[in-house]
Amino acid sequence: MALKILVVEDEVKVARFLRRGLETEGYVVDTAPDGPSGERKARSESFDLIILDVLLPRKNGFEILKDLRADGVVTPVLLLTARSTTEDIVGGLDLGADDYLTKPFSFEVLLARVRSLLRRSKTRTELRVGDLQLDTVSHKALRGDRSIDLTAREYSLLEYLMRHAGKMVSRLDLAREVWGYDFDPGTNIVDVYVNHVRKKIDAGYPSKLLHTERGKGYILEDRNGTA
Ligand code: CA
Repeated sequence: MALKILVVEDEVKVARFLRRGLETEGYVVDTAPDGPSGERKARSESFDLIILDVLLPRKNGFEILKDLRADGVVTPVLLLTARSTTEDIVGGLDLGADDYLTKPFSFEVLLARVRSLLRRSKTRTELRVGDLQLDTVSHKALRGDRSIDLTAREYSLLEYLMRHAGKMVSRLDLAREVWGYDFDPGTNIVDVYVNHVRKKIDAGYPSKLLHTERGKGYILEDRNGTA
């Protein structure tokens, strides 16, 4: 399942830049433009990480963080601070932030922090279907002892299929879970990516794992029972 990140940021340009960059990396991104709406989303939906700007209209990042933690919301928080005074940084960490970045920041550094926070918060899971294995921390895939190179999007797609192994997964499920669309994208993008993944995991193997249910969707399963 694609990891979900909430970006609470009032500067439209920064929010857009973060959304685009993170989506390119395969994350599902939701944004909120002010304190109260950010806090509401953080409470009502489950996110794997929150990127929280400190200077926000109506309720600042420190206040939001303090209230979320007081109410037991443990989602990792990366604070974006405009000032790098020791007081601000220590204050933020004491309130329960997991890390911080000072603006302006490099996107590469932000990504590294994001990955590190997600790694820390996540427990390693090894998914398996037949002789296909997927490690949810390293993102490494193996079929038998051959390793499979996946792009970020292909990884998210395969992880979702493996977590729902043996069940029919519709195109709309995949569009929603892997791309973050609330609607059928109306293009063949899902099929195109499924075909990429199919080539990578099934080509050259007599037993196929990824099956098409015509007009409905896909099922990943080992139909030979040779796990
Ligand atoms: Ca701001």
